[in-house]
Amino acid sequence: MSNRMHQTINELRLKRLRRILRRINQYQSEFEQLPDEALQQKTAKFRQLLAEGQTLDDLLPEAYAVIREASRRVLGMFPKDVQVLGAIVLHEGNIAEMQTGEGKTLTATMPLYLNGLSGKGAYLITTNDYLAKRDYLEMKPLFEWLGLTIGLGFVDQPNYEYKPGEKQKIYNHDIIYTTGGRLGFDYLIDNLADSREGKFLPKLNYGIIDEVDSIILDSAQTPLVISGIPRVQSNLFGVVNTFVETLVEHQHFKMKQTKKEIWLTERGIEAANHYFGVDNIYDEPYFDLVRNINLCLRAQYLFENNTDYFVYKGEVILIDRITGRMMPGTKLQSGLHQAIEAKEGVKLSTDTSVMATITFQNLFKQFREFSGMSATSHLGEKEFLDLYTKIVVQIPTDKPVQRIDYPDRVFRSIEDKNFAIIERVKELYAEQRPVLVITRTAEVAEYFSTTLFELDIPNNLLIAQNVAKEAQMIAEAGQLSAVTVATSMAGRGTDIKLAEGVKELGGLAVIVSEHMENSRVDRQLRGRSGRQGDPGTSQIYISLDDYLVKRWGKVKSMDEKRLREIDSETLQKSLIFQNRVKKIVQRAQRLSEEQGIQAREQANEYEKSISIQREIIYKERNRVLNFENLDDVHLTRLAREVFEEAYDFNNFTAPEWVNYIYKNLSFQFKGDLDALDLRNRDAVLDYLMDIFQQQLEYQKENLDDYYYTNFVQKAILKSIDSNWIKQVDHLQRVKSSVNTRQNGKRAPIFEYHRVALESFEKMKDTIKRDTVKYLCQSITSFQKGERLIVHFPN
Ligand code: ADP
Ligand code: MG
Repeated sequence: MSNRMHQTINELRLKRLRRILRRINQYQSEFEQLPDEALQQKTAKFRQLLAEGQTLDDLLPEAYAVIREASRRVLGMFPKDVQVLGAIVLHEGNIAEMQTGEGKTLTATMPLYLNGLSGKGAYLITTNDYLAKRDYLEMKPLFEWLGLTIGLGFVDQPNYEYKPGEKQKIYNHDIIYTTGGRLGFDYLIDNLADSREGKFLPKLNYGIIDEVDSIILDSAQTPLVISGIPRVQSNLFGVVNTFVETLVEHQHFKMKQTKKEIWLTERGIEAANHYFGVDNIYDEPYFDLVRNINLCLRAQYLFENNTDYFVYKGEVILIDRITGRMMPGTKLQSGLHQAIEAKEGVKLSTDTSVMATITFQNLFKQFREFSGMSATSHLGEKEFLDLYTKIVVQIPTDKPVQRIDYPDRVFRSIEDKNFAIIERVKELYAEQRPVLVITRTAEVAEYFSTTLFELDIPNNLLIAQNVAKEAQMIAEAGQLSAVTVATSMAGRGTDIKLAEGVKELGGLAVIVSEHMENSRVDRQLRGRSGRQGDPGTSQIYISLDDYLVKRWGKVKSMDEKRLREIDSETLQKSLIFQNRVKKIVQRAQRLSEEQGIQAREQANEYEKSISIQREIIYKERNRVLNFENLDDVHLTRLAREVFEEAYDFNNFTAPEWVNYIYKNLSFQFKGDLDALDLRNRDAVLDYLMDIFQQQLEYQKENLDDYYYTNFVQKAILKSIDSNWIKQVDHLQRVKSSVNTRQNGKRAPIFEYHRVALESFEKMKDTIKRDTVKYLCQSITSFQKGERLIVHFPN
């Protein structure tokens, strides 16, 4: 879509929003006159109106006017018209693009208040604990003044252990400030509860995601994972790795680097069959072999030492793509980490199984309605629309933006570039103008900081280590003579206010030491300067040695090769050459952006199966948890199905049936089956059903109605959970095995969905079988005379 068209559509959207804004503004003069109590009483009135059937949409204009006036009285800030426009977008479940410093925190209070009225929960979700707590503390007085309850979604202490009932209390507020990670893990944990009392998370009602593009788009590829027990280590990595090293690209395998896909060609498959001495590696028994080949291929050709990971003291340590930081303790899932370890010849670490997992995308889809805000949403507009059918509305700034974004400065090498950056900082420092130098990696930030100190230029270094401390440091980046060196993520979400006299000098100067992996992040960085109509400048410095170019800028032509051999002086003099370098960098960034989009699309595709299944399972769990009293009919039917299956698939002899009964129904079985005609299906089934009923009767003898229901719930849940956990882990592994089958025959994703469905169906049968077994063979006891303990059979 053309830019003009884009603007026109946005204008139309704003026009509608302004009509609503006018209705809100009409209340203003009246509400200014109201005494505090009268304003506070509005909350009760709104709740009354809701109970009488009015909708939140009906209440919006008056409610927004109320909280606006309350905000003026309690916080001393009156939300501006543009903030109200953003607030309407947020209530409507769309994405509001609002520039840095426009006051998104305050904007969010309006829809939070409105949606908090229903008492069903309104969430503000941000990127880290520090920001969640900061905003919570700042806005708490406002909500409490209006009679709503507000809570922080977690206890802010490392490794805190929650007491029973504590989380219920936390989530029992009208409004909750939290982070995506906190909420996501709670969602997974909540769905592992084995009693109704153990559940704490209400149905997710309404949520606002702050910095929505960084939560949804940038951190989306790493799903939240609850790890379970260590897996049995595959011993194939060594030999498979040796095989993979012998392969030749194009001949034996092909790859699409941008998509992070790699697969064997026909010749590659032949080579594998030959090497491992099998007829066809894709035959069922070689599932694990194929998986290992795929993992090793990816490790060998799609992951680069020093770019994707470091080998440090015999360990493979991942590097964050966006920040370049090492991530000790973080591991790639499902054997990929071990494949890289095999490639690098270090000791293999243990791989843990995956117990429960969810991506941020799917977490947010659990909300009845959610919306988002950020300074750079429109650059992710298409993805928001495709993924969530959400539109992005660009909210104008309160005052015109005065920041000047200068064109890139071009250099041949990193050395030339860094030298120029230091020179520029020296100039700015001499003028006392504050400057913020932003780098991709912590190493480069440290380099600048040290070099500047050597030149007697005091500076603050922020490398995303201590969020709270860095927030305070970056808040001071607008002082006279302040020199701040930071990585891209450091101190985000914190406002940089200019000190007196700085405006006259031209405001904050932002210098970015290279383009980031997508232009959205570049924009976020430029936005550090020029808030609320302040003057300011931004400029990005580039060279042919930049990470983006190394990663994505394959040399395309002779011309480019020559360009790389040019000396610094010629380059500095020639605009034509400089433009060529710019083109190369731009192309590399575009490729990087495409890769990001494709990787997210693919991750989403793969998520579909598991998320459908997860939803079915979680629903079933909740149904079981909510049984009030039981009708045994349901259990009888279930048992009968299980016995039918056992009968139809096994053709057991009498001793085999006895064995079956021992294993599944009763340890104490003493009967004999001589009198039973095994060819008579109904007779056998009835016989088994009798035993089943006796076992249930036996369980009932020890338990009253309440505990009996409780027991049945626990038995079914145990059976669901143990099998679902296996299924989740299985799907993770299948995901890493299907990729290599992409030899033109079948799209791997279809193959994956097919296998996923098949295994899910199988799992449902296993759940039923296990349920019968747990019902019949468990032993119950009581802890402290009141808590039911169920000892399940193996
Ligand atoms: P953003 O998240 O959009 O970058 P913040 O929410 O951090 O911006 O707000 C930036 C600054 O503006 C904060 O200091 C905040 O207190 C202030 N602010 C926001 N809205 C108003 C307002 N309506 N009147 C006065 N100050 C405001
Ligand atoms: Mg903010």
